[in-house]
Amino acid sequence: MDYKGLVGQYKDALISDLFGLLEIESVKGEPAKNAPVGEGPKAALDYMMSLGERDSMVSKEVDSLAGHLELGSGDKLFGILGHVDVVPPGNGWDTNPFNPVLEDGEIIARGVQDDKGPTMAAYYALKILKEQGMDFKYRTRLIIGTDEESDWQCTDAYFKSEEMPDAGFAPDAAFPIIHGEKGITTFNIIQKHTPLDEEEPNIELKVLISGERYNMVPEEAEAKLKVLQNMSEVIQSFEDFLRRDDTEGEYEIDNGFLKLGIKGQSAHGSTPEAGVNAGFILLKFLNELNLDNNATAFVKFANSKIIGNFDGEKFGMAHSHEELGETSVNTGMINYTEVDGGIFGVNLRYPEGLDFESGLRDFEDSIYEEGFVIEDVTRQEPHYVDKNDPLVSVLLDSYRNHVEDDTEPFTIGGGTYARTLEKGVAFGAMFKDTADTMHQKNERMKVEELLLATEIYLEALHRICVKGEMDED
Ligand SMILES: [Zn+2]
Repeated sequence: MDYKGLVGQYKDALISDLFGLLEIESVKGEPAKNAPVGEGPKAALDYMMSLGERDSMVSKEVDSLAGHLELGSGDKLFGILGHVDVVPPGNGWDTNPFNPVLEDGEIIARGVQDDKGPTMAAYYALKILKEQGMDFKYRTRLIIGTDEESDWQCTDAYFKSEEMPDAGFAPDAAFPIIHGEKGITTFNIIQKHTPLDEEEPNIELKVLISGERYNMVPEEAEAKLKVLQNMSEVIQSFEDFLRRDDTEGEYEIDNGFLKLGIKGQSAHGSTPEAGVNAGFILLKFLNELNLDNNATAFVKFANSKIIGNFDGEKFGMAHSHEELGETSVNTGMINYTEVDGGIFGVNLRYPEGLDFESGLRDFEDSIYEEGFVIEDVTRQEPHYVDKNDPLVSVLLDSYRNHVEDDTEPFTIGGGTYARTLEKGVAFGAMFKDTADTMHQKNERMKVEELLLATEIYLEALHRICVKGEMDED
């Protein structure tokens, strides 16, 4: 099959259908009748359904949150999972984010890269195969979600009532293939009671605050102290501390309180060591002071269990997997108030092979004596498809037939839409040199890349769903 030639014939139709989709403001909004995540995402879903109906595909909507378009017949099902909701446009655009323009070979619009462009590329791969009059060995389904950017209500609802594909991919990340993702958890470590201590403190810790999100390394930290004696000595030791570690920080005396601020370096929660956790630095300094009892317990705990615990060793949850790598721990939020005590908001990511639940239970048992408990646990399991699985090899081969690139399939600490498939990988649509403009102003995708992705998807679907290559070995 001449994949490139075929896709070329559909170029104008593809771009025109994509423009129609990009014009829909499918940002999550207030629930409305038959639109549980808002009118915009529902309109984008309806739009895709109507394309499928126009092109004589079998269509089905599920709970107004998701839907699919299907081709072929047979027992086996192959799935492609894309989404048509987008994040809010934000400010600073050079064009109207919902009025797509084609400029210098690039389409500029919110969602063109994430994930409307790649979803439309997959749609056209299905459409072209259908119009070639192929006999399918797999039923081939494009599944479309409308809540990927928020809570994944779409796939939750969809897979509650619909069949799980035997295999599939999500065109919602990068080429060549992401075949593994760590388990992602969040939890809070909360200070409940403080063992009594008889010493006379010199400093009362009123407030400490650092970070706002589990999945980011805190860039700033602030504390407010009441110093009972020798304020100047405390300030002197703070200045010495900053100088010693070459740290950026400042202090201020405000209404008799001493306020301390530290600047660190932000990074994504999946790579905590790439950042500098401002909260950690501030806690290290506080550990040198003679604080009140409750604050002492909080700061001592932080120094023994939290600071520098990037691999989970201090939780007893370090684990390593050949391909998925190691446990990573980001302490994205650190808060303390005199009244409520301390709380650490943790984002722990782990590879296959770690028993997260029992590990967390053992850790909680071990910190009870120090006055801490664990609450608010959320968890997504690790997701992994063997690199030697025929799914991975056929997709990789289809990619390499169009792109000169030896990059091997890889794994990440983050989560992609592919994890909602039982056996699914992320497959495109960003290429090696593609500028990642997802969730940013002036989001863009090259027409050339849109067509190339379509060719790759067409070849992959042809080989898997028509020729049955995945089942050969
Ligand atoms: Zn996406």
